[in-house]
Amino acid sequence: MTAGRAAPLGPGATIGVLGGGQLGRMMAVVARQMGYRIIVLDPSARCPTAQVSDGVVVGALDDVQAARHLASQVDVITLDTEHVPADVLAELEPIAPVRPNASVLRTIQDRLVQKQFLDRIGLPQASWAPADDLDAALAKVGRPAILKVRRAGYDGKGQQRIDLDGDPHAVLAKLRGEPAVAEEVVRFTREISVILARGLDGQIAIYPVAENVHRHHILHTTRAPAPMPDAQRKRAEAIAVSVAEALGHVGAMAVEMFELPDGRLLVNEIAPRTHNSGHYTYGACATSQFEQHVRAICGVPLGDPRALTGAVMVNLIGDLWAKGPPQWHDVLARPEARLHLYGKDAPAPGRKMGHVVLLDDDTDRALATAQSLIATLAARS
Ligand code: ADP
Ligand code: MG
Repeated sequence: MTAGRAAPLGPGATIGVLGGGQLGRMMAVVARQMGYRIIVLDPSARCPTAQVSDGVVVGALDDVQAARHLASQVDVITLDTEHVPADVLAELEPIAPVRPNASVLRTIQDRLVQKQFLDRIGLPQASWAPADDLDAALAKVGRPAILKVRRAGYDGKGQQRIDLDGDPHAVLAKLRGEPAVAEEVVRFTREISVILARGLDGQIAIYPVAENVHRHHILHTTRAPAPMPDAQRKRAEAIAVSVAEALGHVGAMAVEMFELPDGRLLVNEIAPRTHNSGHYTYGACATSQFEQHVRAICGVPLGDPRALTGAVMVNLIGDLWAKGPPQWHDVLARPEARLHLYGKDAPAPGRKMGHVVLLDDDTDRALATAQSLIATLAARS
């Protein structure tokens, strides 16, 4: 059966999720609201997704036996993270449809292969080179540069900056021999992302462009819609659509981009899943990215991605828990604020624990509110 002709999976069907983080959790909440069942594979029976699921298979994400056990109980399989080995997904494809599939993941989960793919389809990105021959790579990308491990990096983990002075080989050594790529440091005016969903039949729904601020390589705030001229928005959307179509992706997807002073857009990276910068859609849009992902992988029509209001999302990072759980009163007291906590029991610096979405058409005001709420939480924690 080809993917395009697969029968739709309506409510009552069971979705298997590989990985039990916050993305799986938010999808599970929405899926169950719609009448789907959720079974998750994760090393921890108490992971964020398992807490809101119908069942859990305890096992590592590269444990083929455990993954097969999950696959045998579900109608469709999807992912909470792009770091599930593509080889494991390929093993599951004969048992149940995997969406997005092993071939999409093979292209995305190795940064080098992802960059080759972007070059091949002609999309602009920062100058890059494999870091195996570091001197040659730096001759191409220049200094300063950023080294990124090819596999398994996230939230800036597995990244090291090579400055104008200092020994670049000592910086490379910090990656402990992990294969890496080198990138030029881009002097962007801002970062944006386009979240979309692509259905089994190729239908695409695009969300308002998000504007993102990172701190220490971790997403800090998202504002949507990003203020931008229509022509620029269309360029950003066209880039994301061409990525989704060239991949043959099914599900939610994010394309992160750097906007340059002259307006050009460079693709930073692709996430073949729901994305932190799309959390605002849950509350601000007619259909959240989580519901859209469920619809896409189940082969039912996509929902309306339209924003009903402007929004700002601010991440709650583990550092806020340094002196104990934050006091939530000020967040809860704001009528426009929606608190999301992921049920992680071990707050750690740099760990995403939750987020707050502020629903406000005046996104400048919402950004200011986000900063003051974070300051209050930090002061009280
Ligand atoms: P991940 O999100 O998987 O940790 P990214 O490649 O998106 O990895 O890097 C995280 C953040 O680090 C980016 O959103 C951006 O703020 C910064 N960054 C990454 N690559 C570059 C670059 N080449 N130039 C400037 N900043 C970068
Ligand atoms: Mg990123």
